Amino acid sequence: MNLKSKIPVLYHTLFPELLDIEFPAEEIATCDSCTLCSAKQNPYFNTKCCAYHPHLSNYLVGAILVDEDESLDSGKERVRAQIKAKIGITPYCITPSVPYIRREKIKDSKGFWDRPHELIESLLCPYYNIGHCTIWKYRENLCVTHFCSSIGGSSGKAFWKKVNKYLKMAETTLSQYAMVQLGWPPSKIKTEKVTTADFNIEDEQGIVNDLNYKKLWGEWVGREEEFYKKCYEIVRKMEASTFKQITGLNREILDLAIRDTQKNFTLNILPEYLKLHPETVFMATKEGYTSIVLGEFSVEVPLMMGSIIRGFNGNHKTTEVFRLGYNVLINISELVDELRTKGILIQA
Ligand code: SF4
Ligand code: SF4
Repeated sequence: MNLKSKIPVLYHTLFPELLDIEFPAEEIATCDSCTLCSAKQNPYFNTKCCAYHPHLSNYLVGAILVDEDESLDSGKERVRAQIKAKIGITPYCITPSVPYIRREKIKDSKGFWDRPHELIESLLCPYYNIGHCTIWKYRENLCVTHFCSSIGGSSGKAFWKKVNKYLKMAETTLSQYAMVQLGWPPSKIKTEKVTTADFNIEDEQGIVNDLNYKKLWGEWVGREEEFYKKCYEIVRKMEASTFKQITGLNREILDLAIRDTQKNFTLNILPEYLKLHPETVFMATKEGYTSIVLGEFSVEVPLMMGSIIRGFNGNHKTTEVFRLGYNVLINISELVDELRTKGILIQA
């Protein structure tokens, strides 16, 4: 597979040099039949990993509004409803609202399995519809690059992190560039990531402060849709040379970083079958835990995790053992990485 299949078409003329970069198929994170969320007890059972609110850059919002592709009809309605309600609506992007950010902080303060279903469901993305994304064609950086487990383990994750940073850099620069082109005073443009809290346009309950909202939007107030569409027009017409010029050294560094991490990703693909090193032993430690030991190396894990790791016996496919983990609510990705590094898990 190559990045052309992942990166939204909108960018294909802006940074064509990334499109041929190859990566191994992500066979563990099978998003259409989401593996991680297949167990009912999983807090993310009803939401997949879309318990997330994207920061949808101004030109992406415009693209959704302009594009007549039917697959965007529902997304378009959702975006229009957000603009009408003025919730999270800024000239930079559509951002999560103040109450959303508060709920997200509560989520982050709890361990994964302690997060109540209701809390996670209250964080469901406004563009999510029964397992599908209604704005897929114009999804933002994280929605392009997130995999709960990578077939390349930490090397795969490192690669996607760099692709994510590149897209984020592109989104931020392009949205600011569009604002400048539309006459926004440069001295008023924030160059860091923004949320609604930066402009005091909503209170803690999410009630919009009309005065501050008007102040933020200036002459564009009431014409937000038009503004977003114009931002899209600017980005749509942009030449690759302009993109190169406005993204400069940042882009060059990230481009090289993607290529570097891609090499590691390709070298560290999980074998189709793994097995425990024949001299590996499991030793009882404290109650509820076991140590997986090979010579001087040992890794202490909960008993259930130990049982799943025993599934790597050369007979079960690697993807099957991961799935086994998901069935009992465990993501073994990091542990597998560690056991491979220590030579405890080897190719079968
Ligand atoms: S990345 Fe993982 S959690 Fe998200 S949809 Fe894909 S399989 Fe499910
Ligand atoms: S924009 Fe789409 S992919 Fe991203 S979180 Fe929302 S529904 Fe999921």
